Amino acid sequence: MRVLVSGGAGYIGSHTVLALIEAGHSVVVVDDFSNSKPTVVARLESLSGQHIPVHAFDLADIDKTTQLFSIEEIDAVIHFAGFKAVGESVSKPLEYYQNNLGSTFSLLHAMRRHEVKKLVFSSSATVYGDNAPVPYPEDYEHLAAASPYGRTKVMIEHVLSDVAHATPGQRIALLRYFNPVGAHPSGEIGEDPQGIPNNLMPFVAQVAIGRREKLEVFGGDYPTADGTCERDYIHVQDLAAGHVAALEHLDTMSEPVRAFNLGTGTGTSVMELFRAFEKAVGRELPYEVVGRRPGDLPAYWADPSRARDELGWTATRTIEDMCADTWRWQSANPQGFPDGS
Ligand code: UDP
Repeated sequence: MRVLVSGGAGYIGSHTVLALIEAGHSVVVVDDFSNSKPTVVARLESLSGQHIPVHAFDLADIDKTTQLFSIEEIDAVIHFAGFKAVGESVSKPLEYYQNNLGSTFSLLHAMRRHEVKKLVFSSSATVYGDNAPVPYPEDYEHLAAASPYGRTKVMIEHVLSDVAHATPGQRIALLRYFNPVGAHPSGEIGEDPQGIPNNLMPFVAQVAIGRREKLEVFGGDYPTADGTCERDYIHVQDLAAGHVAALEHLDTMSEPVRAFNLGTGTGTSVMELFRAFEKAVGRELPYEVVGRRPGDLPAYWADPSRARDELGWTATRTIEDMCADTWRWQSANPQGFPDGS
């Protein structure tokens, strides 16, 4: 298939571009580089040995988006592009709703106009909200989220479901990611947050490389085995493989829209992840346990059985792999991707 990857220069998008090419698909990227560097593309081309067409514009521009589908032959879309910082979404809700919903509307219009029926969407475990039973099951009905960012994901899931049901032949997979971490084993691409990292793994990696003084562990008094929060960390390479599996499954899907958890089904605590990272680096790292971060849930992980049974996909990489690959990427690229084009 020839796949349009929106946000293909971003963290998960870039790893998925490589996985698609390895699986024999061809790829067209659209990315406005608002939260990624153009140098990612050169690395993707050298790792894949292929030229990757890139269109640099904001998908909210519906005319450009529709025009893109006239210029490029497109069989399917994987839609990653979107704002993703939970904290920022609280202070800039309008920007989050406008960007995340607007880009999706543009894509849906262009897909309808050009009769592209296949879509894989980047959703998130945040759609389970605060009250879903753990492990989270996809058929939990009361989707909710605690932040504007999360609510854009809930809203888009509803939009996509309605559109899928109203459009003959449309097939949409909603992929609910748990906590993506790790990097490509080459060390050439990885997560490159701009500014202070919000997420645990990139923060720990930046402590290890000396860009941050110490990890602040947000809360040591949760009702968990070691008192720190537990999450379902999933290697970005496993996540990328999950997108290929979902894409290739769309044709045989019995319903127009289906949600799939992409997680391992196992919880790992903040301190367990931190200790595993110390092992990967080969030395102790500085940390301090501080107060809880508002809004954090104590512990949750995926029920990954639907993706296993229906997509034939399971996560195979361990926490040790996640730490080793993150460290390889971070130590080879202390400041992330270089500027330039
Ligand atoms: N966390 C932490 N220090 C940090 C960043 C995160 O202790 O600097 C904790 C956070 O409280 C949560 C876990 O690490 O329990 C994972 O947080 P992250 O933001 O990576 O993902 P989330 O669980 O919010 O999706």
